Amino acid sequence: MISPRFLALLIFFLTHSLVAASAIIVIDPGHGGEREKDRSDGSQKGHGSSWNNAHSATGGYLEKKLTLEYSQEIAKALAASPRAQKLGAKGILTRHSDQQLSAMGRAAIAVEHRARVFLSIHFNGSSSHRAEGTRGYICSEDHPHWEYMHFINPYADRDRAFSDLVVKKVANALQPFGADPTKAKTIGDSKHDGGHLKDGIRTLGFARQDTHLYQAVVMLLEVEFIDNPKISQWLLGPETRDKARQAVAAAIVTAICDHLEHDTPPTQPRKSR
Ligand SMILES: [Zn+2]
Repeated sequence: MISPRFLALLIFFLTHSLVAASAIIVIDPGHGGEREKDRSDGSQKGHGSSWNNAHSATGGYLEKKLTLEYSQEIAKALAASPRAQKLGAKGILTRHSDQQLSAMGRAAIAVEHRARVFLSIHFNGSSSHRAEGTRGYICSEDHPHWEYMHFINPYADRDRAFSDLVVKKVANALQPFGADPTKAKTIGDSKHDGGHLKDGIRTLGFARQDTHLYQAVVMLLEVEFIDNPKISQWLLGPETRDKARQAVAAAIVTAICDHLEHDTPPTQPRKSR
């Protein structure tokens, strides 16, 4: 004879063990705030994360505003996705308003929550204003002295696989609007592309140097080049703007779910070389 109290306890433990452990997804809307540039090359002193680098070719949109809108859309799509809920995915934003955060401060939020995914959202610009394509950035093994930080990312294989997945899904989602998925790629060395990224991309280094984030994949996504008039037209045009943002958010949620479903995170920190 099982006592009702024992039965109640049994049911409690069974139902609670069936709930998936939560997987914290930290989404970082790049830039924010009004801090002025303070170096001649346009980057900032110290550990700052710059104000708003890229400007759209049309409409006068600032990167910092778009990164926040896209990040909020991703968090919303994550919360609405039954698949993401089943996987315990929970979105957290590093900022909710037009606020200046340091690169280290952004990484610290991922560390604090022991994130499984740390994704920094940006929009690109180029000196020719003609470049296009979705870009993923990671701390790569190809670049040992990674952006002033002397370490080799022991998780580069994991980060690259995740970045490839996100970049491919986002580029494919934007193809119907006018994006060219053949121009999409993952880059491990920020010197090869987007030198202006210096401050924003340093966030990745701080996240990767922290041994607490050993279960996370860490990347920075440049959705598209907003200073290219051709891209800007469909990415920010009044007819397609909302649809493009929703398509990107849905693609990122799919990529995150694909990753969580197949990922076996390390059980302890790997040694940095
Ligand atoms: Zn940026």
